Amino acid sequence: MFFLPIIVSDNSARLRPTSLHAGGVLDGSRVLETLMNNLQGMAYRCLDDAHWTMIFVSHGCTDLTGYTPSEIIDQSVISWEMLTHPDDRARVRHAIHVAANARRRFSVEYRIQTRSGELRWVVERGVAVSDEQGDRVIEGIIEDVTERRAMLDALAQAESRYRNIFEHASEGIFQTSSDGRYLAANPALARLYGYPDAQTLIDNLSDIGRRLYVDPTRRDEFHRLMQTHGEVLNFESEVYRHDGSRIWVSENAHIVRDAQGEFICYEGTVQDVSERRHYQAQLERQANHDLLTGLPNRVLLGDRLEQGIARAERLGCLLAVVFIDLDNFKFINDSLGHTAGDDLLTAIAERFSTTLRGSDTVARLGGDEFVLVLNDHDEVSGVISLLERVLSEIARPVTLSGREFQVGASLGVALYPEDGRDAQSLLKHADVAMYAAKDRGRNNFQFFTRELNRVAEERLNLEAAMRAALEQDAFDVHYQPKVDHLRRIVGVEALARWFHPELGAIGPDRFIPVAEETGLIVPLTTAILRRAFAAARRWNHRRERPLRMAVNLSPRLFLSGDIVAHIAGLLAEAGLSPTQVELEITETVFLGDSDRAVGILRDFKRLGVSLAMDDFGTGYSSLSYLRRFPLDIIKLDRSLVTGLEHEEEVAMIARAAISLGQSLRKTVVAEGVENQAQFDFLRFQGCDEFQGYLLSRPVPEIELSGLLADGGLIPKAPS
Ligand code: C2E
Ligand code: CA
Ligand code: CA
Repeated sequence: MFFLPIIVSDNSARLRPTSLHAGGVLDGSRVLETLMNNLQGMAYRCLDDAHWTMIFVSHGCTDLTGYTPSEIIDQSVISWEMLTHPDDRARVRHAIHVAANARRRFSVEYRIQTRSGELRWVVERGVAVSDEQGDRVIEGIIEDVTERRAMLDALAQAESRYRNIFEHASEGIFQTSSDGRYLAANPALARLYGYPDAQTLIDNLSDIGRRLYVDPTRRDEFHRLMQTHGEVLNFESEVYRHDGSRIWVSENAHIVRDAQGEFICYEGTVQDVSERRHYQAQLERQANHDLLTGLPNRVLLGDRLEQGIARAERLGCLLAVVFIDLDNFKFINDSLGHTAGDDLLTAIAERFSTTLRGSDTVARLGGDEFVLVLNDHDEVSGVISLLERVLSEIARPVTLSGREFQVGASLGVALYPEDGRDAQSLLKHADVAMYAAKDRGRNNFQFFTRELNRVAEERLNLEAAMRAALEQDAFDVHYQPKVDHLRRIVGVEALARWFHPELGAIGPDRFIPVAEETGLIVPLTTAILRRAFAAARRWNHRRERPLRMAVNLSPRLFLSGDIVAHIAGLLAEAGLSPTQVELEITETVFLGDSDRAVGILRDFKRLGVSLAMDDFGTGYSSLSYLRRFPLDIIKLDRSLVTGLEHEEEVAMIARAAISLGQSLRKTVVAEGVENQAQFDFLRFQGCDEFQGYLLSRPVPEIELSGLLADGGLIPKAPS
């Protein structure tokens, strides 16, 4: 019920309580009167009529309205309806009646006009009750809330001002939780991050650490700074927008805490600084790159050299610094003009970039001087073949002002660590070597170390001699028989032979690597296979059991281009059945892309040739290769044969390798068999075929024909 006791009144403002404290003997009416008259506001009872005729009002009436109670009661001067602001009257009546009909309390806020004409806001709270006669009266209290309303208004205005700033700011504004969720975001932030609106951003971007920052450690850094300083200033990071594109932003943020100092959230602003970052990056690029060619300049070269040296130090591999000077640049520049000169430099720079690997650096020092930094080479021969490619790239004709020109270059090479341990001395020595190259008649390269020049020269001579020999078809093939346990010749291995009129006999161990590096391996192998296939064809012409012709395929050739079709073509050309051919490959072919290797092997099998794993026992995980790859034959490497009759360890490994081959149902061939003891041991262990000096050295075709004519049996040497 209402907080006032039910009171009755007559026209005088006298009160009479209807109930009192149980057992109380105090003067209830006095207490009530005191209470009533000291109330903030005005207690009242009125009739539910058109005037809200007041039956009783407390003393507060004077403060509230400027009229005394007696002026209000029974409308002796003014009715409550008249006091009520005309615009509010209907609303007040409606509110009171709705509540009264539902037997509920009401509370309604409206304006009254005081005696002095001032407008005041009041809140009236009350309830409809029945009086002693059973008529509906309203009882309640009316308070002045003008001040409170003014305060709330001011607050609401302030709030809406802030909301306006939040909604319309051009900066992104956010509140986030410590576990990386958005609690609030403004439209600018949504725009910045590419979301249709703030709510979508809040709903979607649930893991700021991982979803927003390109570098996921940025969120941790944000936390760390917050923890130590309570704020972050100009915190720049690259972030993902909704569509996955990236921008750079700068954040300013601080921790929001409650009155007790407990963490509530992070709050801050975000600005898009991509443009400035790009501009900065561009400046940086300009500082580190050559404007004409876009290549790194001297400054960046210094950095790259330092990095390269550190890397070579760590990995123990070679680092080559190559100084390059174009040979007739000055002539072109002077005679055709600077534009042509620039075009030439740009064209050459582009060729460098396509010839080198990603890990290498090519820098332009200015003029027609370039420097290469070559990383990760294990051997000088790799550097040499790369430099040959660079020279031939430079030598390709360039079209300038509608005419073709050819330029050469002089290259000087210094190697780390032999020729210098720091960037400065490496550059200096490469420069010295470059002058040596110029002295030697241009369009060549020189190492700083003399010994290497000899190696390089030999290599170059060898390459030139090989080209000539190929043209003259001067490569020869020898054949080494393979025999079964009864010493019957069952096959031969074709081995390349080269006798140079001046250089003498050059072994395949020397020229095959050069052929691989220079690409001459293709014509060389073609020449050898042609001879070998033709020989096999001749021998097998009338043989009941054809000899198998084994040929070696170098790993690089095996993996290059369409080797299967190439060999099929050569077989067809020779009229030799693929079933009479064995390909010997080493396990190096499986080290890289072994799926590709398996594919090629399958194609060869489909063609009908047999496949042998050469040099078995020298590699790493031979067993897994044997299982996975469709091989028919394994050839035990000579190192598993040499000394097996003296050394138990060698014998043990040989025994294990043979039984492995047998359990996988491969034909097991032993190579490098040099004496009877080895032969006997290997035969006893179950080797299928034998090859080695004990039986025969590699011999020319004619000699092998002789052996075959004698019955194809290799007699045991008299012991
Ligand atoms: P490989 O395939 O392991 O060939 C066997 C090598 O061992 C041959 O050396 C052969 O002359 C030698 N040899 C045979 N029996 C004995 C023996 O009882 N004792 C000793 N100490 N050596 C023996 P060669 O002809 O110098 O060939 C060396 C390597 O060059 C070959 O090793 C092969 O990998 C490669 N090669 C030779 N010819 C060709 C070819 O036409 N193409 C390719 N890609 N590589 C070839
Ligand atoms: Ca071989
Ligand atoms: Ca071998």
